[in-house]
Amino acid sequence: MRILRMGSTGPAVELLQLALNRAGFGALATDGIFGPKTEGALRRFQTSRGLVSDGIAGRDTHRALLPWYTGYVLHRIERGDSFWKLAERYGTTAENIALANPGAQPENLQIGESLVVPLPFPVVPTKINWSAALLEYVMRGLSARYPFLQVGEIGRSVMGKTLWSLTLGEGEREILYNAEHHANEWITTPLLLTFAEELAAAFASGGTVDGLSAQELLAGARLTLIPAVNPDGMDLVTGELRQGEFYRAAQNIANAYPDIPFPDGWKANIRGTDLNLQYPAEWERAKEIKCGLGVCSPAPADYVGPAPLSAPESRAMYDYTLALSPALTISLHTQGEVIYWRYGECEPEGAREIGEEFARRSGYALADVPGESSFAGYRDWFIERWERPGYTVEAGLGQNPLPITDFDGIYEKLRPILAYGLAAL
Ligand SMILES: [Zn+2]
Repeated sequence: MRILRMGSTGPAVELLQLALNRAGFGALATDGIFGPKTEGALRRFQTSRGLVSDGIAGRDTHRALLPWYTGYVLHRIERGDSFWKLAERYGTTAENIALANPGAQPENLQIGESLVVPLPFPVVPTKINWSAALLEYVMRGLSARYPFLQVGEIGRSVMGKTLWSLTLGEGEREILYNAEHHANEWITTPLLLTFAEELAAAFASGGTVDGLSAQELLAGARLTLIPAVNPDGMDLVTGELRQGEFYRAAQNIANAYPDIPFPDGWKANIRGTDLNLQYPAEWERAKEIKCGLGVCSPAPADYVGPAPLSAPESRAMYDYTLALSPALTISLHTQGEVIYWRYGECEPEGAREIGEEFARRSGYALADVPGESSFAGYRDWFIERWERPGYTVEAGLGQNPLPITDFDGIYEKLRPILAYGLAAL
């Protein structure tokens, strides 16, 4: 995380405020503006941790705040510690500690041994704006608290940020869900990760997600999530990225499109290529259509790129999907409360029935893609390549970027789709 001090703004400040609240040092508004109240809470936190109380969040302070960024404490066992005592001290349960430490023997804890102790709040924040830095903390937190989750990297963005993957389940059917091809649709990242956390917790406790047994779902399927295809774009739209050459280049591109608000209207990757117009499914036709509409070069949206898969983010999705050969895919976008399910005349077997069930469970409409957006998308390519069910879900209603305050309402409708997607085949 960057250094934060009085006057700092943006998602990193929202996360700092959230962490100070979680740690019990304030009831700060998570408004992303580092003012006197945030500074006061930060100074109190620093004093409590034996740090210099300068009110500036630099490296040491961020490190001390890690438990409240990631959702767990790494506790070194001392004489007299037990799961029960640690649970009481950190406000969690002995069951949650056992879950996070499958190798530890509660009756025989070794002094000096480190245990992961989950803290009493969900890992995935759903009330603040996101950044790639937060995404990294969340991936660390989820894999620590739920050790049966596998976290990996499928590639890097233009700016070198990790394109994360997260896998759970042991079934034979490979299922792939992805989110945030489009920068100003970043709310799909916490939506997908909230589903992952709910599913992991239900799997561990023998519970259900939308009425379906998590253990049964994950006995039949192996689910891989790509939570953010476009992390550079996320940082641009949420205001985490506001300086440097990449920012200025994007700003220059946007200047040619005065009708598109900057950065709120930005869908593309940081170089102005639309990542969901990059796939080899009649890419040339997509190019003709978009060029005919006036977008022939890098733009905030709708530029197909100089060639298919020229953007590293789309290339990574393509390579990863090819290697995985999933039986079903869902791509999360916003907005419209609509589910797209076929590619041209190509209707994979069973795809309509599954789509109708998605629609029935969520209240979203099953629909055909508008003509001008019919080619070169991830779903287009996936369906054409394998003739297997692939869906685009346009979650939520309103104007992109949908505000994070819409989160709960969107998730309620999306959860049944994501759960049923594991059971459908
Ligand atoms: Zn989209």
